[in-house]
Amino acid sequence: MPVAPAEVERRVELIKDALRGRGMRLTHQRIEVVREIASADDHPDVEHVFRNVSTRIPTISLDTVYRTIATLVELGCIRRTALTPGPARYDANVDHHHHFVCTRCGIARDVVDDGLDAIRASAATTGIGRVEDVEVRLRGVCTECERLEDADHIGQHSWRRIQEGNQGKEHVT
Ligand SMILES: [Zn+2]
Ligand SMILES: [Zn+2]
Repeated sequence: MPVAPAEVERRVELIKDALRGRGMRLTHQRIEVVREIASADDHPDVEHVFRNVSTRIPTISLDTVYRTIATLVELGCIRRTALTPGPARYDANVDHHHHFVCTRCGIARDVVDDGLDAIRASAATTGIGRVEDVEVRLRGVCTECERLEDADHIGQHSWRRIQEGNQGKEHVT
């Protein structure tokens, strides 16, 4: 599910305003980093953003991507997430939402769900601190990985059939 084009434009405009407000020049390179992160729905890390922007601007440096992303986090335009182990991943969706993380491929997707929004912390948490926000992380197998697993099973089955078929032939001869 890619981010809807209208939503990408909305995010890009908001971020441009924030950068202008900070007195930063809207260079072509910065705008491309902004556009890349605003259109990603898989919470990319810096390397991933760098790789994708590099295909359009081969001269961009990893450092520029790092610095632009750091500024966007500072301005509150994007959020740094700790959804999966490894390098920090970034989220251009700053509205309240939850996440689905695939335990096979590690992809993290946004989940908007009234049912999850309705979850309230119980008395068990009062000793720990004041709850200001509840964000749920669902873990499971994404549809893409599920499809691959199914394809794998089908592959194994047909392989077994071929082997059984060969054995059958051996019996005949
Ligand atoms: Zn997956
Ligand atoms: Zn998210």
